[in-house]
Amino acid sequence: MDFLRPASWEDALAARAERPGALPVQGGTDVMVELNFAARRPDALLDLTRVGGLADWDTAPDGRLRVGAGVTYARLIDGLGDRLPGLAQASRTVGSPQIRNRGTVGGNLGAASPAGDSHPPLLAAGAEIEVESAARGVRMIPVEAFYAGVKRSALEPDELIRAFWTAPASGPQYFSKIGTRNAMVIAVCSFAIALRPEERRVGTGLGSAAPTPRRAAAAEEFLSAELDWDGGAPVSPAAARRFGELVRGAASPIDDVRGTAGYREHALAVMARRTLAWAWNEHTGAATREAS
Ligand SMILES: Cc1cc2nc3c(=O)[nH]c(=O)nc-3n(C[C@H](O)[C@H](O)[C@H](O)COP(=O)(O)OP(=O)(O)OC[C@H]3O[C@@H](n4cnc5c(N)ncnc54)[C@H](O)[C@@H]3O)c2cc1C
Repeated sequence: MDFLRPASWEDALAARAERPGALPVQGGTDVMVELNFAARRPDALLDLTRVGGLADWDTAPDGRLRVGAGVTYARLIDGLGDRLPGLAQASRTVGSPQIRNRGTVGGNLGAASPAGDSHPPLLAAGAEIEVESAARGVRMIPVEAFYAGVKRSALEPDELIRAFWTAPASGPQYFSKIGTRNAMVIAVCSFAIALRPEERRVGTGLGSAAPTPRRAAAAEEFLSAELDWDGGAPVSPAAARRFGELVRGAASPIDDVRGTAGYREHALAVMARRTLAWAWNEHTGAATREAS
């Protein structure tokens, strides 16, 4: 098996175009498992860890963060936790310290597992994925269009993921994950919420609840109209229940070794209500402090 080690982004794109059978590798925490278990036998590996800039982030002129595909969970938690709290909260649940020191959001996107923990917060925040090929240049993909099926994405064979773009949080963001224990666990199901008070919008993301990560669009519409954005009135129990039911309705889970479809649906409704309470309490607490 060849091991390709481009030192620049341009060389990486050229190698990707010339060797479509080469498997990109970032932190290797998915790739190495697949190789060790002979789930894949690529004719080459395309190591991206020497490509400058992939492990950095910056702020674009429009105020959004552009976070390189090679930023590890550990660095994201330390360096961006204040601006991307939902994604940082999800990142803290990934694997173990060793996995968080190697694994990246770019790799999570590349793997496109319905259970990947970065997907719900990226969906809730309305992120965009920057991908590029040598032949056609840059393409920006709204994150919800990125997931194409179980472990399949919209990435073309000659494209690489360069970064994801997302606005710094303008309101509370929360992530909740059900697992069979507290660490080193693939989500039975997961849920993310993001409040965007300046747009009076609510964002959501569901994980391990359908063939792809997905938003709960009807739940977002309902809650965006229901919340008392100016007055900060408490969310009524009926509205919270309805939100939970709409989130549950957006899921199409399966029975598998980690849980039944029925359990996942129930858990999603609970997580939706719970994260809504956390987020709204934080938002109204902040609103009260500003007014006083
Ligand atoms: C013990 C263990 C525990 C884990 N726990 C969790 C967990 O709790 N939650 C979770 O979500 N995941 C978990 N994972 C899976 C894995 O750590 C994550 O999916 C991680 O985000 C992968 O990142 P990576 O950089 O290591 O990706 P890699 O393994 O390097 O790559 C993953 C996939 O993305 C592709 N890829 C990588 N970079 C690019 C790029 N720039 N452009 C195009 N394609 C690319 C690769 O070809 C590959 O298909 C765990 C894995 C292990 C081994």
